[in-house]
Amino acid sequence: MMRIDVLTLFPEMCEGVFGTSILGKAREKGIVSLNAVNFRDFSGNKHNSVDDTPYGGGGGMVLKPDPIFAAVEHVLAVPGNQKKPRIILMCPQGQTYTQQMAEELAQEEHLIFICGHYEGYDERIREHLVTDELSIGDYVLTGGELPALTVIDSIVRLQPGALGNETSAVTDSFSTGLLEYPHYTRPAEFRGWKVPDILLSGHHANIEVWRREQALQRTLERRPDLLETAELTVKDKTALERLKRSSSNTL
Ligand code: SAM
Repeated sequence: MMRIDVLTLFPEMCEGVFGTSILGKAREKGIVSLNAVNFRDFSGNKHNSVDDTPYGGGGGMVLKPDPIFAAVEHVLAVPGNQKKPRIILMCPQGQTYTQQMAEELAQEEHLIFICGHYEGYDERIREHLVTDELSIGDYVLTGGELPALTVIDSIVRLQPGALGNETSAVTDSFSTGLLEYPHYTRPAEFRGWKVPDILLSGHHANIEVWRREQALQRTLERRPDLLETAELTVKDKTALERLKRSSSNTL
């Protein structure tokens, strides 16, 4: 079973998400163990303070190293946790998170996430404790909980048995290197808008060809940068050339 510990000052933010939808079911099925640890419990001082003013002056409070190191050491001392975990600092200065990283982290046995708050972390946490620093994008949130939960959600849904339909994670946007093709469901006609005939044909091979082409077209229109690294077959490349020609003809 994969184990994920989240070090936070707001465990209640995590518990709500851990008990809901795919994460809640994965937890119930014993696929993943999800734990929120309040690092204020490891403050080591009678005021329970975990932050202090920065050396050198300036605004904002800085998270102290001792409660975070002590909370990680507490998690590592739990029986069964002897293996070396990835210790991930949520931080806008970190590497920008991608689906490829989700796939890599989903292979790990144990992950520890550290959620910041306030102005920042004492630099010794970065230098001597963590193995990874992750950002969920070029914007700044109040705390690391929402970023950590975003990353955790993307990892748990990749665990075998977590999703009802295993193929849905395989064809998701980014997993194939492309954006996903469009979906339709009943009714076949809604307010005069019809489902493409091919999807009603029952011809699975033709449907697969159509879907691949739609994924290529959608990626070309919305995220052409992805086409530079996507694994493309000769057929894909021919289809792309055709799609590019037809889009330049319509301009
Ligand atoms: N002063 C910091 C800086 O400029 O890098 C920003 C601190 S932010 C207000 C507080 C915490 O929110 C961070 O320590 C981090 O845990 C989290 N956070 C904010 N934005 C984030 C992002 N884009 N990705 C990951 N974590 C983020």
